[in-house]
Amino acid sequence: MSPMMTHTTPPDAQPVPLETRGSATPILSIDLQQIRLNHHAICAAFPDALVYYAVKANPAPEVLASLTAAGCRFDVASLGEARAALLAGAEGCHLSYTTTVKKAADIKAAHELGVRVFAADSADEIDKIAGAAPGSRVFVRIAVDDSQGTAAAPFGSKFGCEPELAADLLRRVARVGLVPAGVSFHVGSQQLDVDAWEQPIAAAATICRQVGWELPLLNLGGGLPAGYTEPVPALSQYAAAINQSLDRHFGGSRPQLILEPGRAIAASAGTTECEVVQVTHRRGERWVYLDVGRYGGLAETENEMIIYPMCAPDVGGPLGPVIVAGPTADGDDILYQRHRPELPLALRAGDRVRIGCTGAYTATYSSVSFNGLPPLRMRVVDSTLASRGSR
Ligand SMILES: *Cc1c(COP(=O)(O)O)cnc(C)c1O
Repeated sequence: MSPMMTHTTPPDAQPVPLETRGSATPILSIDLQQIRLNHHAICAAFPDALVYYAVKANPAPEVLASLTAAGCRFDVASLGEARAALLAGAEGCHLSYTTTVKKAADIKAAHELGVRVFAADSADEIDKIAGAAPGSRVFVRIAVDDSQGTAAAPFGSKFGCEPELAADLLRRVARVGLVPAGVSFHVGSQQLDVDAWEQPIAAAATICRQVGWELPLLNLGGGLPAGYTEPVPALSQYAAAINQSLDRHFGGSRPQLILEPGRAIAASAGTTECEVVQVTHRRGERWVYLDVGRYGGLAETENEMIIYPMCAPDVGGPLGPVIVAGPTADGDDILYQRHRPELPLALRAGDRVRIGCTGAYTATYSSVSFNGLPPLRMRVVDSTLASRGSR
């Protein structure tokens, strides 16, 4: 591992409050101290950027409140997320509503809550915003080619206009009485290529020249990674690559930068404690069935896209590879079959397994009661203080 690469704390070394260890599983613990550290690290690596936390990564009220206290702003993708951010103390003027697929009624309600920054990638959406949130600032989102496979969760073709159409859309923004904010994009979540921002930054600079006026903002989206089981480039490497691209394409007239990190703030703050339901040897393979699975919050294990670190902190002895599956009667509820985590050979039903780096895109993905199983419970703690109780 090069010294520039960073790695998550192994799950057995993460601060899991003692009370959690005796409580019913599965339970996700979120450590607010780690949320603050992650936010601070991003602010330190990108001192010129305004940071808007992508609420969908983990909308726990305590997470939003601690980020508000740290001066963070919020990127919301629904009215519910906007309300959650406001309840956590954020001001409407510090929210952006930058998904490009919104109902007119939701745009209007968000505007009434004080939201003044939106995004669009089509003429239809621009006209909706003009009608429902007059005078607002609007980003035009461009598509990013993320087909190279360097992002664990690419956005594919769902969002963003072709860069060639962006200048026209920005002119339309101005024509209908809205304020063109600039270009936005998302390079794909858990983006491991530090150069992935180069192509959309180049496109954004071209678009600025095409429209002929200065665009005040440039929204670099999310994509900064969390360290799961593989080392990932350090934030400083992302910042260096992005700064080079900005220098190359914008020179001395850089727009104000916006970042929308979700995963990089929330993931490493979460640890899930779960229990082994069964260990089975079948056709020469060792299967470990946990009481948390694909439908209990670990949706990002689909196609083994995200490989969470796991360990059994209370079981000693040698380790061996296992297939890991969830508890439901669904045949797709297998977490890892290609990639084989190593768990103790002595592991038995009833033992605890700890899954690290589960703070982002987990609790909100858990189903309400598939197979009659309750959604993943979440407990928010602050490792610098005492436990704050669970929900
Ligand atoms: C989900 C999302 C993000 C957060 O992405 P991460 O990869 O988790 O950082 C940022 N911006 C937008 C518009 C999103 O939809």
